[in-house]
This record gives sequence, C-alpha cells and structure tokens, in this order.
Amino acid sequence: MSNGATQLAGQPILVLPEGTLRTLGRNAQRNNIAAAKAVADAVRTTLGPKGMDKMLVDNLGDVVITNDGVTILEEMQIEHPAAKMLVEVAKTQNEEVGDGTTTAAVLAGELLKKAEELLEQNIHSTVITKGYKIAREKALEALEKISEKIEPEDTEELMKIAITSMTGKSAERASEHLAKIVVEAVRTVMENSEIDKENIKLEKRQGGSAEDTELIKGVIIDKEVVHPGMPRKVKNAKIALLDSSLEIEKTETDAQIQITSPEQLQKFLEQEEKILKEMVDKVALSGCNVLFCQKGIDDVAQHYLAKRGILTARRVKKSDMEKLARATGGKIVSNISDLTEDDLGEAGIVEEKKISGEEMIFVRDCKNPKSVSILIRGGTEHVVDEVERAIEDAIGAVSSALEVGRIVAGGGAPEEAVARELREFAQSYSGREQLAILAFADAMEIIPRTLAENAGLDPIDMLVELRSAHEDGKNTHGIDVSLGKIVDMEAKGVIEPLKIKTQAIKSAAEAAEMILRIDDIISAGKLEKAGAPSMPPGRPEIGGEY
Ligand code: ADP
Ligand code: MG
Repeated sequence: MSNGATQLAGQPILVLPEGTLRTLGRNAQRNNIAAAKAVADAVRTTLGPKGMDKMLVDNLGDVVITNDGVTILEEMQIEHPAAKMLVEVAKTQNEEVGDGTTTAAVLAGELLKKAEELLEQNIHSTVITKGYKIAREKALEALEKISEKIEPEDTEELMKIAITSMTGKSAERASEHLAKIVVEAVRTVMENSEIDKENIKLEKRQGGSAEDTELIKGVIIDKEVVHPGMPRKVKNAKIALLDSSLEIEKTETDAQIQITSPEQLQKFLEQEEKILKEMVDKVALSGCNVLFCQKGIDDVAQHYLAKRGILTARRVKKSDMEKLARATGGKIVSNISDLTEDDLGEAGIVEEKKISGEEMIFVRDCKNPKSVSILIRGGTEHVVDEVERAIEDAIGAVSSALEVGRIVAGGGAPEEAVARELREFAQSYSGREQLAILAFADAMEIIPRTLAENAGLDPIDMLVELRSAHEDGKNTHGIDVSLGKIVDMEAKGVIEPLKIKTQAIKSAAEAAEMILRIDDIISAGKLEKAGAPSMPPGRPEIGGEY
C-alpha cells in the first residue's frame, strides 16, 4: 500500500490526490537524514576561530560574506523540509542565545549521522530516539556540573566571553575594542538581571574602521536638526518628547473658508501664526532646550523654535521615541498643554554630527540610560555588516552569560566533557539503548573534531589527546587551534556562556529526534509545476527525490 492507494478486487482506491509524492520507511529516513546532513556540512567549515567564511550571492546579485551560521542558513533559501528543520535549529539558537548557531546545526547533523549508522544495523528509530532523549538529559546535567559562576562585576571574564564569541569573524581584529563596548552596553541596559536586547540599538555607517565603532550612552537618531537657525550642539540638554504635531490641524470634513479680501487673508495667516507661536511658547515654557517630535512641525513653528534656541528634530520614529524615553528618563507627552518640566529627559550632550556624509543626532552621556546605542563603523559595507553580526553574537553571549549566571570553557572542552560523562553513564544501560547513548556521546565530539579540522590540524591526533586529558580529569582542556595543542581553555581565556551549549544540545537533539521519527513523507504535487507530468495514480515512486 502506498500513495494512499490500496487494492480492492484489483481496483486501486486513491486516498491522496493525483501527483502526490510519497516516500516510505527507510527511504524516507535516508532521504531526510541526507538532506539534514548536507545542511550541517554546509556550515561546518565555518566553525571556530579558524573557520572559513562563505560568500552568498542572491538572485539579485547581492553579496553577503559571513561566517555566521544562522545568516548562511537563512540566505541559502533551503527548500527540503527536513533540511529546513535544521535551519530552524539555528534560528532558535539565534533567538534564544544569539550565538552558537553553527554549533547547533553541526551537532544536529552529526546526531543524525550517528543515528543513520545505528539504523543500518537494524536498530529501530524508536530505540534511537529513546536513547537520545536519555542522553540529552544527562548531557545537560553534565554541562551544569562543569559550569562555573559569573557575576555582572566580572568585567574581565565578560570581556573574554565577548572576545570568544567574535573570534573567527572578520571583526576579530577589533575584538578587544568591540568587547569592551558590548560588555558596557549589556551591563547598562540590564535590569534585575534581565536583559532586553532591544534596548541596545545598532546603527551602521560605512566609513572609518571597525575600531571607530562607538558606544553611545543614549540614542542615535537618524535625523537632522530641522532648521538652520537652531543650535547644532546643546550641553546639559533638557529634552521634551512629543508625539503630537506642531501644525494646524486640518479639518476632518471638507470645510471651506471663504476669503474675499487681501486683509482677510492677512488676518487668517496671522491667526495661524499666532496659534503656532503659542504652541511653541507652551513647549518652551517647560524649560526644554531640545525637542524630539514624532510628528510633523510647521515651518512657522520651526522658525519660532529656532528663535527660542531649541534644537529640534521631527518625524522621529516611534521606536526611537521610546528609546529616547528609556535613555533620558523623559516622558512622551501627547498634549502640548500637559508638558511640564517633570516630563523632560536629560542628556549630557545632544549634538548633530555628520557621519559619512549624513547628519545624525547623538543624544549622549545620559545619566542612567536604560537604552544605549552602538554606532558600527567599517571600511566597506561587507565589513560593517559582519561587524554587526559579530556584535550581535557578542551581545547574545554576554547577555546569556549574565542571565543564567554560568559559564563553561570553549574550544571543544565542554563537548568532550559531556562525551566522557555519557560514555560512563551508558554503562548502566544495556543493549541497543546503550548504543544510542554512545552514539550521542560520539556525536558531541564533532565539535572538537571540526575545530581541529578547520584549523588544519589532524582531528584524530587531537581527539586522542583531548580524550586523554579529560581522562585525567582536566575537563576544561580543549583545542588550542593556533598551537595545535590541548590546553586549559579557561586559562587561555576561551570561555562561553553555559546557555550556548545547553540550548545547542537541546534544539539539536530535539530536531534529530523529530526527523528520526518520520517514516512517511507525503508531499503534495507542486502547484507551479502543474504542467509537469504527474505520477500515474497507483504507481508511487518509493524513495523519490524532492
Ligand atoms: P557558532 O556559530 O557555533 O558560535 P563559531 O564559529 O563562533 O560558531 O565557533 C564557536 C566555537 O569556536 C566554539 O566551540 C568555541 O568554543 C570555539 N572557539 C572560539 N574561540 C576559540 C579559541 N580561541 N580557541 C579554540 N576554540 C575557540
Ligand atoms: Mg560564535
């Protein structure tokens, strides 16, 4: 029975529509595993400090050069459903942690590869998934056990986490400088050990170099000062935040105003001007010297604001207004009449500056900003983009280190520690389950193995040495990719948040288990291929390709 067709008195009965492609049993598993493995292999060469970059060209000819797992997988526009699940693993890792995306995808691929070997030995996938589940729980426990504590005050350690997460990216040259910025930014926006990454705004401007990247304790607004007569720089800024316009409201209905004489027109305009002037007077009454307005500002109002010496920007994005409020401690006010001194925010300096030929307004030196900005610089567009991705990874790594409060060594050390622990643990199981747990243990070693391979080292030699170091209880030892030696990674300053590792294992194992459970792929015929010859009913193509 296949393609939903069954025989009744020699007549096929169709359950599925014509054109449906169906793949069953081992073929389905083989097909899915091959696709997922292909995806993992695609990102494998980018793992670690010596990982290579990929150049991705989309169908419009736009080029992305990156080392970032999730970016590569997203740009690849993968279609195969099982392969897509691996992309999801990387995406989840990116959302939950913000770093470790390659690790997660590579692990998932290897778990499937090892499972494939067991399937070839006729071990049922139910047994494998059961073993994997047991191994996964144990692995998380083992990681927790070898992890160490970290506090927000441990600046040096946090710097190392940021630097570790940036190694291998082209931003590495400036990693010391960038790490300092990231640690400071994350700590500034942290509230009750919670970090909302949204409160770290990343602005990119091509030009300068990665070393010119700058942390602004406040907000950068991609707008210019609205009137030439206004100051370009205000110290000890008192900032009003307004989300209504400084314009005369247009009437909603189609009202007409009849003007019959020049005097009347003059009077009408004077009246309008008076209203606008009063609006500005009200704003000025609050004592502000800077105004950010979410809506429009009439030319006449601009003129009066300039006369008052108020640095003003208009049509500021809502999200930026919210950031301004968080950074300056000001309150966004809707009704001008309600604006008082209490609503004003504060900043050491507000200034307009030209960055790469474009004006931007910098709101700097806020006292206790709960929102900060990072101005990312770099020689070319590609550098700027890759610096941004490196910074995002570092923000993710530092944030999750602080949120969970625990760290582990890198360089393949935790993966080897887990593998060792699992091998020991597997002894308490018998038969096929034990094999599955051992397969999980072997799969963990893909990380140190790949780190070695990508550095041009002999993976077998390195793994043997690594295992023996861990046998001796040196569970923070990993691969020094430059020296080709097994060293104490913690002493070398290669440390990572625990969450990178736990999340990677969790989502990789879950995806692998899910893919393994599938023994039947039923895919509808493609709509756009309506003209293509469809399968004859009742003659399914077992093991067909996608
Ligand atoms: P991911 O997308 O998984 O974060 P990376 O390319 O950033 O992939 O590589 C992360 C791996 O590189 C981790 O296993 C980490 O421990 C390792 N690593 C980072 N820096 C070093 C280093 N200096 N020496 C050895 N391993 C390192
Ligand atoms: Mg990384």
